[in-house]
Amino acid sequence: MAKISVIGSSSMDLVVTSTKRPGAGETVLGESFTTVPGGKGANQAVAAARLGADVTMIGRVGDDHFGQQILRNFEENHVRIGYVKPVTHMESGTAHIVLAEGDNSIVVVKAANNEVTPAYVEEALDAIRSSDIVLIQQEIPAETVVYVSEICAKYQIPFLLNPAPAREVEKSVIENATYITPNEHEAAIMFKNMSLQEALRKYPHKLFVTEGSNGVRFFDGEQEVVVPTYKVEAVDTTGAGDTFNAAFAVALADGKSLADSVKFANRAASLSVTKFGAQGGMPTRREVEEQL
Ligand code: ADP
Repeated sequence: MAKISVIGSSSMDLVVTSTKRPGAGETVLGESFTTVPGGKGANQAVAAARLGADVTMIGRVGDDHFGQQILRNFEENHVRIGYVKPVTHMESGTAHIVLAEGDNSIVVVKAANNEVTPAYVEEALDAIRSSDIVLIQQEIPAETVVYVSEICAKYQIPFLLNPAPAREVEKSVIENATYITPNEHEAAIMFKNMSLQEALRKYPHKLFVTEGSNGVRFFDGEQEVVVPTYKVEAVDTTGAGDTFNAAFAVALADGKSLADSVKFANRAASLSVTKFGAQGGMPTRREVEEQL
């Protein structure tokens, strides 16, 4: 079984639906309210576990009701939570989501996720060192991403950076990373001083840009390649990137070739968009393999 450490955010998504989005100073009546566990780190950990990996989550929650629900969700999905320690002086991270007029608006409060510091991650060094691959995103402090990239380089552990949400990334992190998987928007912000073509050429077999229903673009050393994804009836694309990254990490950790890993990840991510919710649509390994 592939061993994966996911270092990242966990939060509770508080989702309301409304026909109208309130403007500044306005109050509107909504239709429904639901809470669902989310956060890019947690989503990727759950997706990787559903795909059969032995997953250790390294993250933080608040010492509150949402924190307990987040931990229970990890357990139900067989994610190891020994390194998801409640922070006593802070709330769990939350995402406040309004679904209205065919689009979403989101306010994220990182709260306990700010406590995923280098010193905290260091406590999990043994788990990290025994991983086949380490998966990280950017909803935690930037210095933690730098620190993890350094320990992965030092101990030669494959390191997959999903640079989401978009922000500039330290040059050393880009150099230390084994794989980097931005979507088009994140790639434009990361490589703002060069064209996408130049960035892809600079990082062959390392930079994989996801392009939604178009698939994935990378440079194979000789030419730019687009690996098309699968055609599906898309219902909800929330979490497509999270499923893609988890599946890519699982396939690489299993020793699949790069080409087969991209294919596996495209298949998993395309299945995820056929159901509602970020975690709701994440497929099991069997579902992916049956449809490869
Ligand atoms: P993000 O969710 O981070 O913005 P993308 O939208 O690029 O990322 O989607 C990530 C991956 O999910 C794509 O590379 C593709 O494999 C899959 N995917 C996303 N949207 C679709 C879709 N409509 N149909 C099929 N696959 C999709």
